Amino acid sequence: MNCQNCKTMTEEGYSLCETCEMRLAGTLLRLARDVTPLHDSLDATLHPGGHSPVRIQTATPPTPIRLDVLDLIDMLDATARELWRCLDGIDALDWRKDKRNEDLKATLIACAGHPRLATFADAGFYMRIVNNLARKVDLALDPPEQRREIGTCELCETMLTAGAADQWVTCPVCGREQRAQTVKLRRLKKLCWDNSKRSSAADIARVFSDAGLKVSRKTITTWEQRGKLPRHADGYAYCDVYRLLVGPDLTEPVG
Ligand SMILES: [Zn+2]
Ligand SMILES: [Zn+2]
Repeated sequence: MNCQNCKTMTEEGYSLCETCEMRLAGTLLRLARDVTPLHDSLDATLHPGGHSPVRIQTATPPTPIRLDVLDLIDMLDATARELWRCLDGIDALDWRKDKRNEDLKATLIACAGHPRLATFADAGFYMRIVNNLARKVDLALDPPEQRREIGTCELCETMLTAGAADQWVTCPVCGREQRAQTVKLRRLKKLCWDNSKRSSAADIARVFSDAGLKVSRKTITTWEQRGKLPRHADGYAYCDVYRLLVGPDLTEPVG
């Protein structure tokens, strides 16, 4: 017989070769690990930072729930349960006979470790479906890095954009190459030295954190609740946050 996935020769009675069986089991286990991050990223107001644990606040989203992620979880759930029934020889159309009520994660793990994973008739077919789902999950959890505005060019004041990992930026107008960190710091300095510059807690937290001064949105709102930080009609002043963050009267740890 030939492996249904890679077409190499397999032992009699096997639908997948050993390598493809390992890969399918690995993909199923990886999907099991992704179930929790997937549920976490349903909230469209948060970018969960994908596979990394750091959460990044994003701009106002169009809907409060990510429907693409909801669909993906549904699809993953249906596929995993169908695969498990298939592995146990329960007719796909006879799903009522399946009394199991394990959660998605447990179902995926059960499939990955199933003794018939390499021998059941539709192994190649399910491997393609599972790989396809895994690609979509990766995309949902780690969306392509977005470039965002980091500050203006030191020569011509053009707004520059950079990805989170970019060390250097080149001005698209005058061609000046400059360090991304310097651009961000200069922007922060300008915002902090001008007491008319105001913004939301989330935006301020992002600009400070970009420049290497860690302050969370929650810290800023806590300062306001404790009467330390005035809130103006157009938001908090950068200079006030700066004073609280680095000023001498900072008596509590910044969290
Ligand atoms: Zn193979
Ligand atoms: Zn320039």
